[in-house]
Amino acid sequence: MDADAITLAVADNPALGEGINDIRRRTAAIVTGEIIPNEDALRRDDDDAEALRARIRERTRAEGLWAPHLPREYGGMGAGFLNHAYMNEVLAWSPLSNPLFGVVAPDSGNQTILVKYGTEEQKRRWLEPSVRGEIRSCYSMTEPDQPGSDPYSIQTRAVRDGDEWVINGRKWFTSGARRAAFAIVMCRTQEEDGEGGARDRMTQIIVPTDAPGFTIVRSVPVWGHDGDHCEIVYDNVRVPVTNQLGRTGSGHQAAQDRLGAGRVFHCMNSIGQMWRAFDLMLKRVMTRDVHGGPMRDKQFVQGFIADSYIDIQAARLMTIHCAERIDAGVDARADISAIKVAVPAAFERVVDRAIQVYGAKGVSGDTPLEAMYRGARTLRILDGPDEVHRIVIAKRVLARYRDGMSWDFGA
Ligand SMILES: Cc1cc2nc3c(=O)[nH]c(=O)nc-3n(C[C@H](O)[C@H](O)[C@H](O)COP(=O)(O)OP(=O)(O)OC[C@H]3O[C@@H](n4cnc5c(N)ncnc54)[C@H](O)[C@@H]3O)c2cc1C
Repeated sequence: MDADAITLAVADNPALGEGINDIRRRTAAIVTGEIIPNEDALRRDDDDAEALRARIRERTRAEGLWAPHLPREYGGMGAGFLNHAYMNEVLAWSPLSNPLFGVVAPDSGNQTILVKYGTEEQKRRWLEPSVRGEIRSCYSMTEPDQPGSDPYSIQTRAVRDGDEWVINGRKWFTSGARRAAFAIVMCRTQEEDGEGGARDRMTQIIVPTDAPGFTIVRSVPVWGHDGDHCEIVYDNVRVPVTNQLGRTGSGHQAAQDRLGAGRVFHCMNSIGQMWRAFDLMLKRVMTRDVHGGPMRDKQFVQGFIADSYIDIQAARLMTIHCAERIDAGVDARADISAIKVAVPAAFERVVDRAIQVYGAKGVSGDTPLEAMYRGARTLRILDGPDEVHRIVIAKRVLARYRDGMSWDFGA
């Protein structure tokens, strides 16, 4: 793979404090100095690769750049919401960075839930070893026979039997289940709507993956790859009621907490990858001649450069604007949905143009572009498909308009 295309450099932003500029500079030094040049080696699964990963992890810990999503008391960096978002943009220049900075999907989302909803005992048993990297976890919500975009339709049921929950159902796309020590499972615990309406039907329950009745049926291949996205049968799985996260019926809210602000981090991640794709595209057009002249002089190619620049800057400004609104405590639900639609689409376009200038090499495994393309396309479905987010935006705008308020949220 082309590891030589490292012209990525982070510019200090005078509008940000010195603290975050410093974090971004040090993150960039590790990503460009240690991770990108070693991407081929880091992808392998041998002792040398593990030793390399351990060395980089040691450095990120020593530099205080470990687990930006977690507060310090749980072994994280305590970066704060905005700093974490800005850091992500640089960290994502390599698709391999996140775990080397202590952010391992889907564990990081589960850790966030455990911090907020876990009891002291749940934190000791599941959160702490997860943060130390001793155990992995997975998140089991989507079902093959129900629309994942409608979380109220979940059919996996948990029924109380004395001091236990008994769980029956079928899930799929539970990423990372084969390596996981526990799953956070979204279960229907109430047939009738509670005081909070349909939102009260679901509860999240911790299920150890060695519990009798927990069976992985298969890994669902995604884009032809076995990414460990598992189909799982829960057949009379019994767990103590103390494995329940939060109050009965809080599952939907907990899922929103996991996904809501997390979408900003995902978008900043996508923007970081757009930087890399753009950088690779520039490298290519600067160094390759086609039809009697440098690629960079062809107007089609210059159009690609301009359009990708516009896409990246627009996506970035929109995401930062949304992050600032969340940070200010302003209602940002429409903005979160807006970035969830706009950023993956921009990401897909930016990578697509980069692939185009690389020709056949662009769809080969010799650049990171083809994997980025698959990732960008998948993001338009994950965490809520585009259509569902568009509906959220329209409903919220119309409601405000009907109430005689500005459609601009929290301006
Ligand atoms: C690589 C990958 C990893 C994943 N990892 C996990 C995981 O770890 N844990 C987990 O629980 N899930 C996971 N998922 C599942 C993911 O969260 C769901 O795919 C997503 O929520 C969409 O649900 P669905 O696939 O059932 O699509 P559906 O809800 O069936 O939607 C399909 C399509 O229907 C259309 N649609 C839906 N609603 C509307 C509407 N109201 N109006 C108009 N059109 C509409 C949209 O075009 C949408 O794309 C993963 C998925 C992928 C691809």
